Amino acid sequence: MPLKLTNTLTRKKEDFKPLDASNVRLYVCGVTPYDHSHIGHARVCVVYDILYRLLRHMYGAEHVTYVRNFTDIDDKIINRAAELGKDPKELADEMIESFHADMKALGCLPPTHEPRVSDPEVMAGIITFIEDLMKKDAAYATSDGIYLDISKVETLKKQNEGYHYGQLSGKKLGQLIAGARVEVKREKRSPGDFALWKFSKPEEPASVRFEASFGEGRPGWHIECSVMGEQLLGARFDIHGGGEDLQFPHHENELAQCVCRHGHIHANTWVHNAFITVDGKKMSKSDGNFVYIKDALRDEQGAPLFSGPAVRLWLLQTHYGRPANYSHDALEAAWQRSVGYEFADLQAVARDGDQAPTLPEPFLAALMDDLNTSKALSVIDKTKHRSQQQAMLAFLGIETQAEREQTALSKEEETLLTRRTAARAAKNWAKSDHIRDDLEARGIMLEDHPDGTTTWRRK
Ligand SMILES: [Zn+2]
Repeated sequence: MPLKLTNTLTRKKEDFKPLDASNVRLYVCGVTPYDHSHIGHARVCVVYDILYRLLRHMYGAEHVTYVRNFTDIDDKIINRAAELGKDPKELADEMIESFHADMKALGCLPPTHEPRVSDPEVMAGIITFIEDLMKKDAAYATSDGIYLDISKVETLKKQNEGYHYGQLSGKKLGQLIAGARVEVKREKRSPGDFALWKFSKPEEPASVRFEASFGEGRPGWHIECSVMGEQLLGARFDIHGGGEDLQFPHHENELAQCVCRHGHIHANTWVHNAFITVDGKKMSKSDGNFVYIKDALRDEQGAPLFSGPAVRLWLLQTHYGRPANYSHDALEAAWQRSVGYEFADLQAVARDGDQAPTLPEPFLAALMDDLNTSKALSVIDKTKHRSQQQAMLAFLGIETQAEREQTALSKEEETLLTRRTAARAAKNWAKSDHIRDDLEARGIMLEDHPDGTTTWRRK
């Protein structure tokens, strides 16, 4: 059964064939750490985490390399750090830590490599890459930086290379030029040319100034991904992923740089996930209708709101290629669904024992068909075998209670639970309800069963 993926570059659902099955290579554009991450970032990370898990299942965990970068040098970081009176590096480090906490809560596996633009070897690679483009006359200097000449894609690409600039985003060169007119600079050879390197401005802090043969400055945005991909995955690799808003200019420009340097595209399959809507409107940071991941997990007082597995489940209910709508009700419904799995899971432990679970064929078939996670979830709902259900949930990274270490009760919580059991046995309902409320306030939900037993889980 082949894995099928929709390739943005060809606009087709294609059978995936790795260049080298002993090292399947995936690159995903990561975050710019100038603020906490929002649920749009959660979607990108969860979608490619599923792809990563599936590739590991198909080829073996040690045969898949996954790179996700941090754009830790950027105007947004510099400006935000200046507002906060911090050094840009300090701000980026804090936000990277916050991102990692979010990813852990959402059950995302750490990628093989998480390079940063500020890593000395990445910066050295960026400078070499640009020097090479300048030697080929594909890059040139203006008064504020070094630019890529996009017309060189046609002259530098190898004869059998089908790529043309604008192919990925579906834009025509004329449109691109018209779109760029607002910022027309006389010094640019063509309005569509973009910055590979920005010369330092006097007000910028020392931590974002880098020496280069062509002048002190810092990289433009697109160049870093071309360099990190090449350094960690080679000049040509299998899959490049990201949110669909990155198709243009980011990914198109990555392709242009790589074709100018190597004569060929750097990634064969381009996968893009759709955006998030909030209460029906496209989520956008500039419109202010965005939701931080941490705010879906905890309320303003810091008390648990929705669990990481519930947020993950909500994201997986929609195919990655379609917009997912965020609302409190949608999260609540996903949370209820995840709770259903957790209780099923607890009751299953006794029923199934140690029997080795298997992944049902329809479950894998759904995922192999362009990561149809909503269909895979419906297979989970239909299964009668609890150990299988648990195995499928684990495959999707939806941790059930039994797997979550942090769910162990503290001594104090255990005492409360024991006292409540005693109160119930004594039919002291007022006391029993009071303890239930107390535990609920601590994020521990109880369920009383007809046989007199009580199970608990963390919200
Ligand atoms: Zn990128």
